[in-house]
Amino acid sequence: MKEKRVKESEIVKPALKIIKDKPGITTSELIKELEKVVQLYPGDKEILKGRNDTKFSQIVRNLTSHKKNNKFWKCIDKEKEGINTGFYINEIGENEIQGYIKKEIKEEKLDNEFQRKIRESNVYRIDELIKANSRIPEKISRSSKARYKTDARISKTVLKENNYICEIEKLTGNKHKTFDTNNGTQYMEGHHLIPMKAQKNFENNIDRSDNICCLCPNCHRAIHYGTIKEKRTRLELLYNSKIKGLNYNKIYIDFEELINNYYI
Ligand SMILES: [Zn+2]
Ligand SMILES: [Zn+2]
Repeated sequence: MKEKRVKESEIVKPALKIIKDKPGITTSELIKELEKVVQLYPGDKEILKGRNDTKFSQIVRNLTSHKKNNKFWKCIDKEKEGINTGFYINEIGENEIQGYIKKEIKEEKLDNEFQRKIRESNVYRIDELIKANSRIPEKISRSSKARYKTDARISKTVLKENNYICEIEKLTGNKHKTFDTNNGTQYMEGHHLIPMKAQKNFENNIDRSDNICCLCPNCHRAIHYGTIKEKRTRLELLYNSKIKGLNYNKIYIDFEELINNYYI
């Protein structure tokens, strides 16, 4: 198997976001910032022969010097003269970033709705839960891009089964205290480990208790909005604790495939 490396295409989005926040940033500064947010594989950290440079920094240099990557170069301006030779987001880049933000807002809205539905739901009895878990996946509309229906009662049952304690708290032993709600329980959120947008890759329903996590809002937000490093540390714990249950239900996914679903 070929050794895994960060691809140039994977760093376009984080690079544009960094340039937006730090206009005028140079390539060497961009390398440092990207190293903080991109998950590097061992091969990326290798030092190039005869140079004081890692393979990863070479990837960034390729992106910023060759103008071959159209997507990146369409979105930025580079000052040609003067001392400052940094990068700036141009109008096309601004539109591109607005597109990322729109997508994030849409997902955030859907998740808010889902959390509300969970709060309003009743828990299932065990026989009802088995039936709901093993239902046939169903789309919201006929469109090929349509989302799949979720049943918030399953998530509510998962929260109850976890005694409203964050699963990452249980796996690490660190307390993740939130606050008490009017239902008399601690506030928690439900999250699909394999995101629902991946349902199309599975025959069996992934809106099922084995795929749902009970998370404190801090862990949940880190998984959705954190850097890939923040996502990875938490997802690895959850994956290892849940994969057996998923496999038992004939749902197979390796960790790298799972992570790919979290690069938005
Ligand atoms: Zn979530
Ligand atoms: Zn937590």
